Amino acid sequence: MSDCLFCNIIAGKMETEFIYEDDKVVVFADINSQAPVHYLIVPRKHVPTIMDLKKSDNELVGHIYQVATHLAEETGIAEDGFRVVSNCGKAGGQSVFHIHFHLLGGRSMQWPPG
Ligand code: AMP
Ligand code: ZN
Repeated sequence: MSDCLFCNIIAGKMETEFIYEDDKVVVFADINSQAPVHYLIVPRKHVPTIMDLKKSDNELVGHIYQVATHLAEETGIAEDGFRVVSNCGKAGGQSVFHIHFHLLGGRSMQWPPG
């Protein structure tokens, strides 16, 4: 998808530094960081919202959580606790329509979210 920001980042067109990458996902820092650790875990595959995920994507979603917990350990936020968030649609706060999972940590999170 040439008009998708995250597809362009994944294709290396934005010179975004990847904190982690493998054959299924890339991870980079959120440009508008909301916590000491705020990474975006983004599948290489273009899926607009989590509503578009198919049963065949179950392994991919499981992998995303494996990457999240691995990075939580690596960055030292695992022990205190952290948050993994995926916003869906306009009212859910989604602004980029290529699915991604926010990994947030390094401070206490509030609940309910705004
Ligand atoms: P969401 O609002 O849940 O769709 O999350 C999209 C996130 O992408 C926001 O937190 C933005 O700050 C972030 N973002 C937008 N453009 C970039 C970029 N070029 N590099 C890194 N993060 C970005
Ligand atoms: Zn995309």
